[in-house]
Amino acid sequence: MHQLTLAEIARGLADKKFSSEELTKVLLARIAQLDPQLNSFISLTEDLALTQAKAADARRANGESGALLGAPIAHKDLFCTQGIRTSCGSKMLDNFKAPYDATVVAKLAAAGAVTLGKTNMDEFAMGSANESSYYGAVKNPWNLEHVPGGSSGGSAAAVAARLLPAATGTDTGGSIRQPAALTNLTGLKPTYGRVSRWGMIAYASSLDQGGPMARTAEDCAIMLQGMAGFDPNDSTSIDEPVPDYSASLNGSLQGLRIGVPKEYFSAGLDPRIAELIHNSVKELEKLGAVIKEISLPNMQHAIPAYYVIAPAEASSNLSRFDGVRFGYRCENPVNLIDLYKRSRGEGFGPEVQRRIMVGAYALSAGYYDAYYLKAQKIRRLIKNDFMAAFNEVDIILGPTTPNPAWKLGAKNSDPVAAYLEDVYTITANLAGLPGLSMPAGFVDGLPVGVQLLAPYFQEGRLLNVAHQYQLNTDWHTRTPTGF
Ligand code: GLN
Repeated sequence: MHQLTLAEIARGLADKKFSSEELTKVLLARIAQLDPQLNSFISLTEDLALTQAKAADARRANGESGALLGAPIAHKDLFCTQGIRTSCGSKMLDNFKAPYDATVVAKLAAAGAVTLGKTNMDEFAMGSANESSYYGAVKNPWNLEHVPGGSSGGSAAAVAARLLPAATGTDTGGSIRQPAALTNLTGLKPTYGRVSRWGMIAYASSLDQGGPMARTAEDCAIMLQGMAGFDPNDSTSIDEPVPDYSASLNGSLQGLRIGVPKEYFSAGLDPRIAELIHNSVKELEKLGAVIKEISLPNMQHAIPAYYVIAPAEASSNLSRFDGVRFGYRCENPVNLIDLYKRSRGEGFGPEVQRRIMVGAYALSAGYYDAYYLKAQKIRRLIKNDFMAAFNEVDIILGPTTPNPAWKLGAKNSDPVAAYLEDVYTITANLAGLPGLSMPAGFVDGLPVGVQLLAPYFQEGRLLNVAHQYQLNTDWHTRTPTGF
């Protein structure tokens, strides 16, 4: 039963082949048996899951239907869940039980999804390897000595290991697409404003966006349908109607114009990944797509701009964790300054402290113009590059990451080496565009992802291309040995 996709589960539940309660019990037992190897969960919510599963079965018995009704999922542990620990992967919030549900959590619950637990993540979503979590590193099910990617590494490892069919993630600079690529999943970062950020603990508010991680584009469509929509509680949520994403999957790719940026194939890209990307291009050509070389001339400035803007916003967002209002408080503070200093010094891990310091520096009076303002100008140039490209093509295609999953600990002593892994993903966040990563093959037994980018609100187009590709390839169906 653990091999079923969300779409197959929905059919099985509708045909009464099994109940949501039965499926939930099977998956909870599988998590108990296999997750100790992976460390993909921070908290399990067995009681909630069984209550939700029984309620979903009762709703189905009363004639209700719906693709998510009775479907087991998990949430990255930065989505607030009422009465349940919401740690954000940090000692700072180890004791924090959210007083309310995030909009995404509430919407998926209303659609009948069953929450099995909260997944592990890089501390405050800062990282690309899931090694900065207070709860320990997550292992990649394809090779337990390698990282699963980050920061949504727990969601990625759990879904890849067939512990459950789908999970939520968030993507500030690649944290849905990159772990999806490194674990052979399909992951979608929606257009900025498509999915509500209310109740999602903020990292960098102008970049953060929640989205689905699953094995197939078809399942991402089902999840996104449950997550997307206008939310008056989020001032950056956009009041656009939500299309029927599942209905968009079957469009023909005949005449679809795919742009491949020449800058993507520079020296930093593993040549074996480049070959797999070229193969995926050929596959899409067979389906009728027309390929065109394009240019994104300002791409080289994206990493420096992102690693000013994201820490700047983080330093501001994380100032609320002061030992007074939320989370960790140091023992026996002697005065207020001591309380602030030690609560933050002891509650935040080293990567989070590094980002707060970089961000506070970039925003300080003497350096604001030279760093923060400059980075914002680069951000606009990157957006303009995309706007020009989308005048010529419908989709932009390239690698999701320059390398496959690296060994645990391999980049620990050099944070910049890890930052460079984000080169293909962060431009979509800087521009606010939707992006999807899907399985495209293997290098040394480790999965490789191909990334598709589309114009604003064209999530349906991304899902359509990915679904057609998946109907004609079987990379996404491969299962890691031992799972
Ligand atoms: N790796 C990037 C960072 O560390 C992106 C993380 C994310 O998308 N949350 O900031």
